[in-house]
Parts: sequence; C-alpha cells; structure tokens
Amino acid sequence: MTKAPVTVVGLGAMGAAMAATFLENGHPTTLWNRTASRAEPLVAKGATLAATPAAALAASELVILSQTDYQAMYDSLDQAADALKGRVVVNLSSGSPDELRRADEWASRHGAELLTGGVMVPPAGIGKPGSYVFYSGREETLHRHRETLGELGETTFVGSDPGLSMLYYQAQLYLFWSTLIAYMHGVALVGTAGVSAERLRPFAATMLADLAADGTMGFLKVMTEMIDAGVVRGADHNLRMQAVGADHIVEAAQEAGIDAAGPRALRDLMWRAVDAGHGADGLASVIEVIRRS
Ligand code: NDP
Repeated sequence: MTKAPVTVVGLGAMGAAMAATFLENGHPTTLWNRTASRAEPLVAKGATLAATPAAALAASELVILSQTDYQAMYDSLDQAADALKGRVVVNLSSGSPDELRRADEWASRHGAELLTGGVMVPPAGIGKPGSYVFYSGREETLHRHRETLGELGETTFVGSDPGLSMLYYQAQLYLFWSTLIAYMHGVALVGTAGVSAERLRPFAATMLADLAADGTMGFLKVMTEMIDAGVVRGADHNLRMQAVGADHIVEAAQEAGIDAAGPRALRDLMWRAVDAGHGADGLASVIEVIRRS
C-alpha cells in the first residue's frame, strides 16, 4: 500500500527522529530546516530536502513541525504563507496553551488547519512501543491522518481546544521534572553524608511504584478521588504535621549546605494551605492554594 507523503520542518533531535521514522516506514518524506546541513543523513536515507519552506509545504498535505518553540514556526513559514492553504500543519513543538490558540487562528487565516501536539517520549522513543503524543484540534482531521501520525506513537486525542495538548503535556512534564529533581535533591542530601546515589535509588523506586499502586501508599489514586469528589479532609496525617516535616527538609538542606529552593517552595505551599484553614485536612488540600494562585 502507498504510504502518505509527509513533510517535516525542524530537524533537531526530535524532528530528525520523526523524519527517520517516517522514512523507515516507507513514507515519502520531504524536509526543511533552517540549517540545511542537518538534513544530510536523512537525505542519504531517501528523504527529499526542499529548497524553501514554500517547496516543503507544497510537497505534502501533512506538514509536521518540531522546533524549539512556536516563534520558530512563524520565522519559518510566514515567508511561505501563500503555500499554507489546504495544509494540515501538525505542530509538535513546546509552547504555552495561549500561544497554541493564537497559532490556530494564524493557520486558519492562511487557509490551513492546525493540530497541536505534545510528544511524551525523548527522540529515542519515537515510533517505539510506549510512545504517545497528546493531540488537540479537530478530531476528524487527526483521524484522517492517524495512520501517518501513528508511526510516531499512539495518537491520544484530548479535545478540540488547540491549547489542550500543551496542558496535558505540561502537566506530565512538570510531574516528570519535579519528581526527578526532587530525587536529585535527595541524592545530594544523603551524598553530604557519603551515601551514594545507587544506595538511595531502590528506596526512591519503591516510593514511586507505591504511589502509583493501590496499597497503603497509593496516594495518587486516593488524592485523585478526594479532589474529584471535592473532599480534601482528614486522615491520620494532617497537613500541619506534614508542613512541620517540610520545614525540617528545608533545615536539613541548609545544615548540609545544599540548595534549598525546591524544598522551600514546597514547604511554602503547604504552610499557605495551613494558613488558609486546612491544617487539619490532608495533603490534597494544597490543591486549593494552587488553584487560587
Ligand atoms: P533541538 O534544539 O534539537 O532542535 C531545535 C529545532 O528548532 C532545530 O531544527 C532548529 O533549527 C529549529 N529552530 C529553532 N529556532 C528556530 C527559528 N527561529 N527558526 C527556524 N528554526 C528554528 O530541539 P528538539 O528537537 O529536542 O525539540 C524540538 C521540540 O520538541 C521542542 O519544542 C521540545 O520542547 C519538544 N520535545 C523535545 C523532547 C526531547 O527529548 N528532545 C521531548 C518532547 C518534546 P536549526 O537546526 O537551524 O537550529
């Protein structure tokens, strides 16, 4: 069966991995990148390098962008605005949700349709089992191109608001970064006593697995149920007790001479929830402070 042609704009680590995946799966693949030389290894594998952004747009109905940010899309394609008509532009770059909404208006003005996406794996994961991408925009359009886009990973549609894909992406990325940075804080903390990272790692792994499981430590599910039910009360681990414990994490960092900014931010959130009257409630009550800000 003939595979649909696809254009990839942006050949950084991510865009290059996407283009390579399309090529491996038999899609006629056209490329454009600000720095043309980055296309060379892909051209050697059968891709076509377009001389201009307009030529890249003309080559395929489906145009995938993977660049540093949304400004890069305007920098690349504004000069070729006439060639946008009738194209489905799938921007898989990082941006703020409002930027994505503005980009949707920009695409419509030029007669193109925008799908936005947030890719949830690093370049090495593209096209591999476990890869998934949050998409928002018109579901029918995603459906029409699901086979081609599915080469990159599972196509997870999250809604028609163009900003939604980034809301999901950023929710996941914040969880990813804050978890790993908290782990690094722990490594630095025990490291001041000569303990290796490897000594701590199994305990961290147990904590992460337990949080996502159903047992006594399965707080992900417990807190989700409380938040969705609008009930954040109670338990034998009240928030005031936990905020005092968070003070001790800040003190421990200071005593050890390591950076305390992360623990301080977390501690401050917890105390603001206590001060707002949630001292006897559980940790889930911190959501009230976060929402109000
Ligand atoms: P890279 O830094 O490797 O590549 C950036 C790309 O953007 C290059 O092709 C660069 O062109 C292009 N670019 C930047 N600014 C401009 C501009 N003003 N005009 C034209 N082109 C421009 O980034 P990645 O490939 O790693 O990431 C791409 C996107 O994917 C980002 O939004 C990132 O947040 C997202 N992402 C990345 C992941 C990762 O693990 N790498 C994971 C999930 C999402 P040039 O070659 O000319 O510099």
